Amino acid sequence: MQVIRIDGQEISPGEQRYLELNVARLPSGTQITMPVHVYRSKEPGPVVLLSGGMHGDEVNGIEIVRRFLQKGITDRLLKGSIVAMPIINVYGFINFSRDVPDGKDVNRSFPGKEDGSLASMVAHTLTTHILPQVDFGMDFHTGGASRTNFPQIRFEEGDNLAEEIANTFAAPFTLNSPVIKGSFRETAKNMDKTVVVFEGGETLRIDPKTVDEGIKGIKRVLHHFGMLAKAPMQQHKTHYFKESHWVRAEVSGLFRHKKESGKKVKEGQTIGYISSPTNDYSVKVKSPYSGYIIGHNNFPLIHKGDALFHIGF
Ligand SMILES: [Zn+2]
Repeated sequence: MQVIRIDGQEISPGEQRYLELNVARLPSGTQITMPVHVYRSKEPGPVVLLSGGMHGDEVNGIEIVRRFLQKGITDRLLKGSIVAMPIINVYGFINFSRDVPDGKDVNRSFPGKEDGSLASMVAHTLTTHILPQVDFGMDFHTGGASRTNFPQIRFEEGDNLAEEIANTFAAPFTLNSPVIKGSFRETAKNMDKTVVVFEGGETLRIDPKTVDEGIKGIKRVLHHFGMLAKAPMQQHKTHYFKESHWVRAEVSGLFRHKKESGKKVKEGQTIGYISSPTNDYSVKVKSPYSGYIIGHNNFPLIHKGDALFHIGF
């Protein structure tokens, strides 16, 4: 791909460019724009998307892309190009919210429409301006709704490039995760592009370990495709999970976890407790599976049916 064309602007090999894509105005009249950084080596190679903030409160993804750019790694590209978007959902970011102000989830609104809802317009901006220009992408997320995710890469089995990227990224956990209808990954797949998702930490809380794993993983992937001269060694074994399931609350009450994300668990093992505030009852939460906790809920007030632990095996 000789010329990258985004929103009418041409970026040639060897160039760097900062662009702002117009989305829609706030009620105040303030124009909301989506920031895009493009870094191009003179040598041809893959065009890689690094994106964060699809969910506006998922700060670890935003911080990973920001820190990666701050380190000046993009000045040392041997070949190919990087398209970096630290905050896709600017509306959610300024409202400390996952969604756009009408409550819709951008990551269920793909491919989007130019004259659709706000979430649909944000999705459409990515579908039309960004996806056609890139070869593959890494989309950085954070555990939603008070949940902590252990650093993990998600890809769909059967997509060989996604599997190659996931294995090279070498996050502590790697998870087979079929694409969801209306998601960024689904639209990318329909356009023959591969996107893997990284998840780590909790919303509105920066987790240094997650950020560190994210940056190291990006470097390993870029190195694997010949875009960087070196990359950090993998320091731990990656655990691979073919399946994952949520353990839900059997009763309502005050919840405390005994085991947390990252821990190995055995079938039947007690991993948390739910108690009524008046001590009428107290029940143990047991793991129905042997595997690893890939995400846990930190919220102490639980309704029957709420998701408590995400277990991979
Ligand atoms: Zn997310």
